[in-house]
Amino acid sequence: KTRIFSGVKPTGHLTLGNYLGAMRRWADEDQHRADALFCVVDLHALTVEHDPARVRRLSRQAATLLLAVGLDPERCTVFVQSQVAEHARLSYLMECTATDGEMRRMIQYKEKAAGERARGGSVRLSLLTYPALMAADILAYGTHEVPVGEDQAQHLELTRDLAVRFNQRYGPTFVVPKATHPQVAARVMDLTDPTSKMGKSNGTTAGIVYLLDEADVVRKKVMRAVTDAGRDVVYDRAERPGVANLLDVLAACTGGEPAELAGAYTSYGALKKDTAEAVVELLRPVRERHAELAADGGYVDSVLRAGADRAREMARPRVDAAYRAVGLLPG
Ligand code: ATP
Ligand code: MG
Repeated sequence: KTRIFSGVKPTGHLTLGNYLGAMRRWADEDQHRADALFCVVDLHALTVEHDPARVRRLSRQAATLLLAVGLDPERCTVFVQSQVAEHARLSYLMECTATDGEMRRMIQYKEKAAGERARGGSVRLSLLTYPALMAADILAYGTHEVPVGEDQAQHLELTRDLAVRFNQRYGPTFVVPKATHPQVAARVMDLTDPTSKMGKSNGTTAGIVYLLDEADVVRKKVMRAVTDAGRDVVYDRAERPGVANLLDVLAACTGGEPAELAGAYTSYGALKKDTAEAVVELLRPVRERHAELAADGGYVDSVLRAGADRAREMARPRVDAAYRAVGLLPG
């Protein structure tokens, strides 16, 4: 059976980008057609300045949202990365497989390192080695497919390279996984800056729709989205990124085609209004389900405990095999 793995970082409140780029497919498609694991990758949240209490809170919230979007613990495995030691164990072997040069080439590293320095902070070593841990997350489970947004394509290529290199040097150990991206909205842009990706840990919040935003907040953010010079509604991601982003989001919500939808509008105002309502309707059930689940914290904890037990069992044999393959004595 196809094995699927993916995750979200508890670095901020989950966004519309996370949902459209990744989580929606996990719930609507992936868990139904494959043996799937979905993870709150909390170790990755420690790669930048962090507040322990906030990470703890965001981890629980992210786990609750995974269930709220429809992941069914009877169908798939939902767990927290740090509760399964195999991730960190295998990460070290990935650091021993990768080179510093290939880590330094990662766009996310360059961007986030520049951001930390601009804020006057220092860059944690783990920000550089992040892709080794991400490769471990994926490879530990013999993963075939990794459903992610487009921004993760480069990390997935590196993961594939590491899997191939490890297998060549030490014998066949890992499945070589591939990324899958959604047809539309694989890269949702910030509403106030349509040239940069909507990201949950971006400094500003006005252009980011959070999954738990109240309906009126969502409306306000979408109505204030930056559009482009010109007044006609055309789908052109390079020349009209603001309008194209709205069309992508609307298409993702309604199931239409962005370029086709463009033809139905003669003003930016009408496009924004329809997009706002479509997003509000899309998120309504998620917010409602989240409120129900959050009222019963014991349930979420029990799901995570069972999920971690299952994940550990799935990962351990392959990680043990990798340890032996590189020349470490069996425990
Ligand atoms: P951060 O800013 O901390 O990196 P993030 O919003 O990028 O946060 P991640 O936890 O890094 O969120 O990514 C979780 C998943 O959401 C990944 O599969 C990623 O590709 C996807 N994703 C993140 N942002 C977007 C976006 N703007 N559009 C589409 N998919 C996205
Ligand atoms: Mg990210």
